Parts: sequence; structure tokens; C-alpha cells
Amino acid sequence: MTEKSKEILDKIADVIIENKKHLTKLDSAIGDGDHGINMARGFKEVKEKINGNNFETNQELLKSVAMTLISTVGGASGPLYGTAFLYISKVIPDADFTVDSLIEIGQSAVDGIQKRGKAEQGEKTMLDAIIPAVDALKESKENGDDLEEALQKCKAKAEEGMKATIPMQATKGRASYLGERSIGHQDPGATSSYLMIKTVVDELY
Ligand code: ADP
Ligand code: MG
Ligand code: MG
Repeated sequence: MTEKSKEILDKIADVIIENKKHLTKLDSAIGDGDHGINMARGFKEVKEKINGNNFETNQELLKSVAMTLISTVGGASGPLYGTAFLYISKVIPDADFTVDSLIEIGQSAVDGIQKRGKAEQGEKTMLDAIIPAVDALKESKENGDDLEEALQKCKAKAEEGMKATIPMQATKGRASYLGERSIGHQDPGATSSYLMIKTVVDELY
């Protein structure tokens, strides 16, 4: 399973690097214009880490990614994403993903981000893309959706959550300094989170 996880992480890194300008532009509107730069720097390093080392387990692989992000991304998002991946590393199985294991992975990411950043849904942050995606997986579990259906709904909800940050006023992070002027812009962190979720889904199906 480590090979598949490596492939997914490598693809996530490519997508983040490809979107460097887009993320930076979004952050220029309501932040300090470095989100794409921060993330591309971190994920370039992630690519080197994962392709230059052998990992016995997904746990080891994810832990290495977490440490790399914490030490290279910087800003608010570095420690937040780093903690998310660290929490994921504690629960990720080596078996094929199931709706149940994806819920556990997603919930761990949310727990890590909230432990570190103390934000709730609706504050115009990365959580506004991630929480709806995890909720969609939980709903799929209730409905008995198969994995593909669950993943597609998860991606759709992440996208909807990302777009829902546009009319929100930021109350956490740098964008909150703008008060009402943060309204009308899509959150850069919600955008990078959506891109990661989308990539996982597209790689699995
Ligand atoms: P910085 O604001 O330090 O320059 P980045 O630009 O890399 O850091 O990241 C900004 C993103 O971090 C925001 O768009 C937002 O999604 C996310 N963010 C900021 N604070 C929090 C928080 N407390 N909880 C969750 N996400 C946050
Ligand atoms: Mg920034
Ligand atoms: Mg910054």
C-alpha cells in the first residue's frame, strides 16, 4: 500500500506546485500573498523525501510528510497541514482504503487542525473545505454508498465548501485582520485543501 500512497502524495505535490500562482493570488487578496509559495516549497521537499526514501508502512510515510511540511512550509498553514498529516499518520492503515478508513483519516486531519488552530467551520479557513468532505463520507456510510460513490460526493462537498468561503467573513488567521473586507474572496487554505481532496479522489477513482 505504501506505493499507492506514495503515488497519491506525489500527485498532490504536483497539483499544489501547479497551483502555486493561483494560491498565491488568492492569498494576495486577503492575506500576505505567500500561500502558494509556502505550499509549493513544502511539497517540492515532500516529493524529494518520498521519492528518495523507502518506507515500510503508510504510517512512516505520512509521518515523514508531516515533519517535512512542518519544517518547510512556514506561515500559518505549515504547522496546520503538518499536524493534519501527523494525526493522519497515527490512523492510516496499510490495507486498501474503505469508507470507514477514509472517515478516520479525514476526521484525524480535522482534529489535528483544530487542536493547533482552534477554528470552527464557518471561519473562512481550510476547515471549510475539509469538514464538509468528512461529513459527506459519514453520510455515505449511513447511506451504505459504495467507495466510488462516497468519494465522488466527498469531492463535490469539498468543492462546495471551498466556494462557500467566498461570502464568509474571516474570523481566524491573517484574513481576519481585514474584517468585512475579507468578504467576497475565496480562502486560499480552503482552496489548497480542496485541491488535495480532489487529487486523492481522482487518484483512487
Ligand atoms: P500565513 O497567513 O501565515 O501567511 P498561509 O498564507 O500559508 O499562512 O496560509 C493561510 C491559510 O491558513 C488561510 O487561507 C486559512 O485557510 C488557513 N488558516 C489560518 N489560520 C487558521 C486556523 N486557525 N485554522 C485553520 N486554518 C487556518
Ligand atoms: Mg499567507
Ligand atoms: Mg505568510
